[in-house]
Amino acid sequence: MIAENLKQILQTIEEARSDALMARDQVTLIAVSKTKPVEAVEEALQAGQRVFGENRVQEAQSKFPALKEAFPDLELHLIGPLQSNKTKEAVALFDVIHSVDRPKLVSALAAEMDKQQRFPRCLIQVNTGEEEQKAGVLPKDLPALLALCAESGLGIEGLMCIPPVDEEPSLHFSFLYKLAQDNGIEKLSMGMSGDYELAVRFGADYVRVGSSIFGARDYT
Ligand SMILES: *Cc1c(COP(=O)(O)O)cnc(C)c1O
Repeated sequence: MIAENLKQILQTIEEARSDALMARDQVTLIAVSKTKPVEAVEEALQAGQRVFGENRVQEAQSKFPALKEAFPDLELHLIGPLQSNKTKEAVALFDVIHSVDRPKLVSALAAEMDKQQRFPRCLIQVNTGEEEQKAGVLPKDLPALLALCAESGLGIEGLMCIPPVDEEPSLHFSFLYKLAQDNGIEKLSMGMSGDYELAVRFGADYVRVGSSIFGARDYT
């Protein structure tokens, strides 16, 4: 089941990619395994999937260290909000962090990477819908946060967004694309189960797909 889902999604991505003008040459599918058991991740690994996403540090710690030893080419992405007091664990475990969104976190991550001499790639999460309850830097505050990252030696490879549920996602995807261009940022993390095909058409480098691979979740 998981193998079949992966195959179909990869095919959809490839079709959208080869069809759309704005699409990238290469798109990475992040299999979001939050709330799902290790067995589900193993099934995906058996099917050849190597890139996974989790939204909680603690849950990832309980699932991935052994898998990373067994599969040295496994790449683990943190896609959920990161508390400053969890930066040590996050830097030690994750290969990519998509949720950098405030000055305190930038300082904490830079210090922790220096200490561990381990350098996960980082993306800045942008709250493109300016939703009060949602994580991410406001678009108007992005340039200042990027300047701080540069000053702190924290390399930023891309921008990430989660469009508001009740809005047309393409507006947010194209907005994120423009923000990246305006700020000289290369990569885009956007698109989930409901809209990853659209995100690929709008230039996503990373799509983050959970339920379409692993099935519906009981909780988020
Ligand atoms: C859970 C989650 C996803 C995957 O969501 P699905 O709709 O199940 O594909 C993607 N991105 C983030 C940030 C998530 O928390």
